[in-house]
Amino acid sequence: MTVTVDRSVEEFTAAPRQLFINGQWTTAASGKTFDTPNPATGQTLARIAEGDAADIDKAVGAARRAFDDGPWGRLTPSERGRIIWRIGDLILEHAEELAQLESLDNGKPYPVALAADIPLSADMFHYMAGWATKIEGNTIDISVPYMPGANFHTYTLREPVGVVGQIIPWNFPLLMAAWKLAPALTTGNTVVLKPAEQTPLTALKLAELIAAAGVPDGVVNVVTGFGETAGAALAAHPHVDKVAFTGSTEVGKLIVQAAAGNLKKVSLELGGKSPNIVFEDASPAAVEGAANAIFFNHGQCCVAGSRLFVQEGRFDEVVEGVAQIARSIRLGPGMESGTQMGPLVSDEQLRRVTGYLESGLADGATAVTGGTRHGDQGYFVEPTVLTNTRPDMKVVREEIFGPVVVAAPFSSIDDIAAAANDTDYGLGAGIWTQDISKAHALAKKIRAGSVWINCYNVFDASLPFGGYKQSGWGREMGHEVLEAYTEVKAVTTLL
Ligand code: NAP
Ligand code: MG
Repeated sequence: MTVTVDRSVEEFTAAPRQLFINGQWTTAASGKTFDTPNPATGQTLARIAEGDAADIDKAVGAARRAFDDGPWGRLTPSERGRIIWRIGDLILEHAEELAQLESLDNGKPYPVALAADIPLSADMFHYMAGWATKIEGNTIDISVPYMPGANFHTYTLREPVGVVGQIIPWNFPLLMAAWKLAPALTTGNTVVLKPAEQTPLTALKLAELIAAAGVPDGVVNVVTGFGETAGAALAAHPHVDKVAFTGSTEVGKLIVQAAAGNLKKVSLELGGKSPNIVFEDASPAAVEGAANAIFFNHGQCCVAGSRLFVQEGRFDEVVEGVAQIARSIRLGPGMESGTQMGPLVSDEQLRRVTGYLESGLADGATAVTGGTRHGDQGYFVEPTVLTNTRPDMKVVREEIFGPVVVAAPFSSIDDIAAAANDTDYGLGAGIWTQDISKAHALAKKIRAGSVWINCYNVFDASLPFGGYKQSGWGREMGHEVLEAYTEVKAVTTLL
C-alpha cells in the first residue's frame, strides 16, 4: 500500500520547476532543464530548470542589491526575527506536503521525513528567529600604551557578512537548506542557495514559503543546477562575500580553491567516517543504537556510525545483533507504508556504494549480512555488516555513504582512542558504556565535533555541529553559527 500523494504535491511535480531569483520564478537563461528521478523507480519525478553561471550571476546581482540597498537591512531585528519565525510556522503548516516531496525526491521513508526532517527544519528557523534580537557587540576599555593620558570610548559591532552563497547536498535536502538559510537570515545576510541536483524540490517549495513569510525580494534566491556549473560559479563569484558548503571533502577542497579569487569567507561541513564504540559493560540498547547509527537515512549521513568498534568479550554478540536488525529491515519505496529503508538517492550512489562493497570483499572482508544491491529496480542496497577488515582497506578509510558498517574488535580503553582517531575525518563519534567516567574520559580524547554517549544521531538547533580535521571548517547551529555569518567591527573614539 502506498501513501496517497496530496494533490498539491502532484501539481508541484507536474509543472516544470523554475529558478527563484529576485522574488520571481524564471526559466534558466539557457532555457535548459534536467529531470530529477524518483530513486525508488528510476523514473522522472519532475522537470527542473538547469541554472548555470549566467543565472548565478543574475541571482548574485539580486542578492547584492537586496543587501546593499534593499529593505532587508532596514528592518528592525524584531521584525526580521518575526519573519524568520513565520517561515518555521509555514514549514509546519506544510509538513505533509514537504515530507511527501522529500520522500519522493530523496527516497527516504515518508514517516521519517514527517517525524524528523520537517520538524527539525521548522525548529531551526524558530530557534534562529530568537537570535535576531540578541546579536551584540561589546564595549572594551582599551590601554594603548603609546598614547599616555588618552581616553577612549571603544565598542564592537557584529554585522552581516553580506551576500552568502550556499551549496547543499541531497541527504537531508530541506534540513540542510534550513541549517544554512536560518542563521544567514537571522544575521541579516542575503543568500543564493544551490540545492543538490538530485533533490531540488523541497528547496523550491521552501522558497515559496519564504516569500509568503514576508522575506523581501532578492534576499533569498534559489538556483537549481549542477555542481560543476552553477555550484562552481557561485563559489567563485567575485560579489559573493561568503560561501557555505555541505557535501564531500573532495568538493570542499574545490570550494576553497574557488573562494581564493576574492578571498571570500568559507565554512565547510564535509564527510565523516565516524567511530561508534561499544564497551563490554554497555547496556543491551547499544545493539539497536549501533544499528541505527549506521542504517538511519540508509547510511547517507555525514555522521553515520560507519566504523563499529566492539570490545572483545561482546564482539560476536553485538555484531550478530546488528546483523539481525539489518536482515529485518524492510526495504521499499519511501512512499510505501511499512518501508523502513528506502533506496539510495541516485544511480551514481548505487554504483558508488556497490563498488565499495565489491572492493571490501575483494580485499578479504566478510559480509556477515548484505553485501549487494537489493532487487533490480530502483537504487536499493542491502544493509550490510562487514567484519575481518584491516585498517588500511578502502571500506575502512573512505566515506561510503550507504548502509554499510565495518566492525572490528578492541581490547581496552587505552587502544580504542587511537583506533577511533585513525581517520582523516573528525565529525562524530558514539560511546556505549554504563561507566560514565570512562565515557567522559574517552569523549575528551576523540577528535570529533560531536560525541554521543549512550545515544547517536541526536541533533538540536541549539547544539553546535561541525567537524575536526578534514570534516570541515566552522560550526552550524547553536550560537556558534552566528560567528560564521557575521563580521566584527571595532569602533574607537578618542574622547
Ligand atoms: P558533492 O559532489 O560534494 O555535492 C554536494 C553539493 O556540491 C551539491 O550541491 C553539488 O552539486 C555541489 N557541487 C559539486 N561539485 C561542485 C563544484 N565543483 N563546485 C561547487 N559545488 C559543487 O557530493 P555528491 O557527489 O552528491 O556525493 C558524493 C559523496 O559525497 C557521497 O558519496 C558522500 O561520501 C559525500 N557526501 C557527503 C555529504 C555530507 O553531508 N557530508 C553529503 C552528500 C555527499 P550537484 O549535486 O548538482 O552535483
Ligand atoms: Mg557530485
